[in-house]
Amino acid sequence: MRRTRNAKIVATLGPASSDPAVVRQLFMAGVDVFRLNFSHGSHADHSERFKTLRALEKETGRPIGILADLQGPKLRVGTFVEGPVMLAQGQPFRLDLDKAPGTAQRVCLPHPEIFAALVPGAELLLDDGKLRLVVQRCGADFADTQVAVGGKLSERKGVNVPGVVLPITALTDKDRRDLALALELGADWIALSFVQRPDDVTEARGLIGDRAAIVVKLEKPAAVDRLEEIVALTDAVMVARGDLGVELPAERVPAIQKRIVRTCRKLGKPVIVATQMLESMIDSPVPTRAEASDVATAIYDGADAVMLSAESASGKHPVVAVDMMNRIIEEVEADPAYRQLIDASHSSARPGGDVAEAVCCAMRRAVTLLQATAIVCYTSSGHTSLRAARERPESPILSLTPRLATARRLALVWGVHSVHTDDVADVDQMTARACDVARRDRFAEAGQFIVVIAGMPFGTPGTTNLIRIATA
Ligand code: PGA
Ligand code: MN
Repeated sequence: MRRTRNAKIVATLGPASSDPAVVRQLFMAGVDVFRLNFSHGSHADHSERFKTLRALEKETGRPIGILADLQGPKLRVGTFVEGPVMLAQGQPFRLDLDKAPGTAQRVCLPHPEIFAALVPGAELLLDDGKLRLVVQRCGADFADTQVAVGGKLSERKGVNVPGVVLPITALTDKDRRDLALALELGADWIALSFVQRPDDVTEARGLIGDRAAIVVKLEKPAAVDRLEEIVALTDAVMVARGDLGVELPAERVPAIQKRIVRTCRKLGKPVIVATQMLESMIDSPVPTRAEASDVATAIYDGADAVMLSAESASGKHPVVAVDMMNRIIEEVEADPAYRQLIDASHSSARPGGDVAEAVCCAMRRAVTLLQATAIVCYTSSGHTSLRAARERPESPILSLTPRLATARRLALVWGVHSVHTDDVADVDQMTARACDVARRDRFAEAGQFIVVIAGMPFGTPGTTNLIRIATA
C-alpha cells in the first residue's frame, strides 16, 4: 500500500467519521494522520477512535499517525438570563467576574488573568470576531467597554484578545487531563493551541518528554512575532487559520501562512496548513474553485500536509472531501511548474553547515544525476528522514526504522513512505534491507539506483553521516 504523492493529508475524526468502516474508507482515500480534537467529544469517544485506528494500522500494515489536539486556553463568556442578547454599536457593555447570568449591560468573563492584562484601548473579539468591544476603563475584576461592532451574543461564545500577551500558560487543567489520556493511549503528536511564547513550548515539552512529538498551532499574533524561536523549539507547526484569522484581519493571513511555511521548510520542521481548506464540502459534494485553489497553493508552497477539520469530523461528505484533497495534491505535483517552484523556494546549504547537511546535499545531487528512483533513510529517531525531507528531493523517501513510534510520527512528513522494520547490525545488512524493501514496496526495480543515507553508529540521533549508492 503506497501513496503516489509527497504532501500528506491530516483529517479530523468526529461524529461523521467514527464508525470503523468510515475510518477505513478515509484511510483508503488518502488520510495519513488522523486528528482527535479534544475541544469536542468525551474521553470514551477518543479512546474508541484510538482503538479503531490501531486496529486499522494492524490490518493494513501501514503506520498511521495520530495527532491529539488540545483545546488550550480558549476564553469564553458566561451565560445570560434570557438567552442571547443584542449589543448595539456605541453602547457600554461590562465584563466582570460575577458568575450571575448576564444581560445586555454585562456578562461574566470567568478569567481573572484577562482582567490583569487588559489596558484601556485593548480590543476584545467575541464569537469568532463577529462582535468587537473596546476597553474604556478596567480593574482587577471588571472591564467597561464600548461596543465597536455590535450583534447578537449568546452564552459560552469565544473571546479573543489579539493585541495582548496574556499571563496564562498554553495548558489548562482540562488540557492536562486530556494530555494524560492522549499519552496513555499513545498519541504520536500533541498539538498545543494558543501558544503565545517560546516558554509555552518548553513547558509542554517538560510534561510530554519524548513520549510524543509536539505540534505548535500558530494562531496568536504574539507567537507569529516570535516565529523563528518557536519553530526552533517545536517538532512541527500548524498554520491554524481559524483563530489566526480572528486575531488578525483576514487579509493578513495569506502572507503569514507563506512566511510560516518558508520558515518551517528552512528549519526542516513539518508544517500543516489547516482550517477551511474545503469548508463548503461540509454540505456540498464539490468544493468551490477558490477552495481547490487554496489547497493547491499550500502544495505549491511545499507544505508537508494539508488538513480537514469539520469537513471530515462533522460534514456530510468526509470521504469525498479526502478524495478531493488527494486529487488536488496529485494534480499539483504532476505539474512541471511544481518542481520549479519547490526548487526555487528551497534554501540550500551554506558554508559552515554540518555533516548531515553535506550528506543531504550530496543525496539530492546524486538522486538527480543518477535518476535514482528512491532515497532510503535508515533512522531511529526520525532525524535522518526529516533532514532528507527538508531537501524536497525529486524521488520518494523510503524511511526504515526499527521504532514503531518513529514510523508513525513520520507519516506527517513530506515525501516520506514510512516503514517499520527490524534492526540491522551493519552497513551491508542495512543496504541489503534497503534494496529488499525498495523492491517489495515498488520503489525500485532490480538494477535501478537507490541512494541510502543513515547515521553511524545506528541509534544515535542526529548523526546522519553516511551515504551509500546501491542498485536494487
Ligand atoms: P481549532 O484550531 O480548530 O482547534 O480552533 C484550528 C484553527 O484555529 O484554525
Ligand atoms: Mn484554533
